[in-house]
Amino acid sequence: MREPALHNQCVRVIVIGAGFAGLACADRLMSLGHEVTVLEARDRVGGRVWSQELIPGQPDTIVERGAEFVLSGYDVMHEMARRFDLQIAPSGMSYNVREPRNTSVPITSDEVATAARSLRALAEAADPQMTLPAFLGEHLRGSAAAEVIAARAAISWAASEEQLSCHVLLDAVASVQPMVTARTSGGNQGIAHALSCGLGDRVRLRAPASAVHTTDHGLRVHVLGAHLDADAVVMAIPLPLLETFDLQPGLPDIKRVAMTRMVRGNAAKLHVPLGAPAPTSAVLDVARRFWCWTATDASDRVQPIVHCFSGSAAALDGLEVTRGDGAWLDALTRLRPELDLLPEGALLSTWDDDPWATFAYSGLSASSHPGDEEIIHAPLGDVHFAGEHTAGEWSGLMEGALRSGLRTADEIHSRS
Ligand code: FAD
Repeated sequence: MREPALHNQCVRVIVIGAGFAGLACADRLMSLGHEVTVLEARDRVGGRVWSQELIPGQPDTIVERGAEFVLSGYDVMHEMARRFDLQIAPSGMSYNVREPRNTSVPITSDEVATAARSLRALAEAADPQMTLPAFLGEHLRGSAAAEVIAARAAISWAASEEQLSCHVLLDAVASVQPMVTARTSGGNQGIAHALSCGLGDRVRLRAPASAVHTTDHGLRVHVLGAHLDADAVVMAIPLPLLETFDLQPGLPDIKRVAMTRMVRGNAAKLHVPLGAPAPTSAVLDVARRFWCWTATDASDRVQPIVHCFSGSAAALDGLEVTRGDGAWLDALTRLRPELDLLPEGALLSTWDDDPWATFAYSGLSASSHPGDEEIIHAPLGDVHFAGEHTAGEWSGLMEGALRSGLRTADEIHSRS
């Protein structure tokens, strides 16, 4: 007698959050034959990926209010872009090589790169729980290179360097290699729009979920005074919002503690139109802890914009971002006197005050433990966890969000 064919059962899944993680998860679940609904609190998809024209009606002025750079190893993101016919184009500058200015002692980017390379093997051998400042103090005490490397890491991880492991030096981002940096033509949000378009009316905007409770019959999701029942739920919301979400039963202590060990980054961006063309560039303000760049778009022309990014709570305080763009524009004018800034067209983008983000992104810290990644993404009954913070070494990145979404969809499918 023939064995009956094994079929996966169709599962009713509610995905909470239409960022890259939630959308990638829903897209894969739909293609595997499951019944999906995506609840999104905002009136748009993309979450911390948000692209817009700085000058409305001028497509060459697309800026990223959140995630911008497509770095090496972004295989899933490249695959998505190919699938949706979106171009990921070189930016003409390297995210990794930034000319250091405003240092206590003048130093070139080549000298910083040489110092950083000399630390690689030492960092590899060091205990990951050793903090970056302790490591730099031991190997580059008081040097200008140490000052630049610490500023560089604090900005990119959007956190104070005391929280960071010396292993951040091993990351491509901190290794100051001139690797190619790319951006998505028309904006990264194009990927979110394309995924959402495929999901159609399965995506519900302006639909903030307020609770997920386990009942005798499965899971009940509360949204806008009503409820939806599901066999499985995917929590694809940012880490700080997950910690306070009304989940019953609640998050076990082991998960909460592992989540507490993650770095919570604070970051902001400023985009300023330019009155005269400029060459591509990447400049780091070491003392004020921000960097800025001019870059090409898919047409190979340099966008008429200077983009700035600042990371860590202390840096944002120093730039007074809660009071508007004034102090940052002053600092930028002093840093880049060669640029013809048009400050009246500037766009400041902050995330700590965004109720559906409340921070910028997460990262592994000096106090992270080896098994934290698995603990953080482990499902709780039929409640699953996606999002950049569940992506281990890919945490904090668009690629991590996408990978986490696909991993979660496969997890649900294999259980069905
Ligand atoms: P999100 O994009 O935050 O999606 C979560 C979604 O959940 C949001 O849409 C939110 O509105 C929704 N939500 C929250 N609560 C609820 C609720 N109760 N009910 C329903 N919906 C809810 N990454 C890179 O790779 N390269 C970069 O250059 C880069 N630069 C960055 C710069 C900045 C300033 C910031 C802020 C981020 C940057 N990132 C970068 C990180 C990147 O944006 C994130 O890692 C990624 O977008 C996170 O995706 P996500 O799906 O995990 O979360």
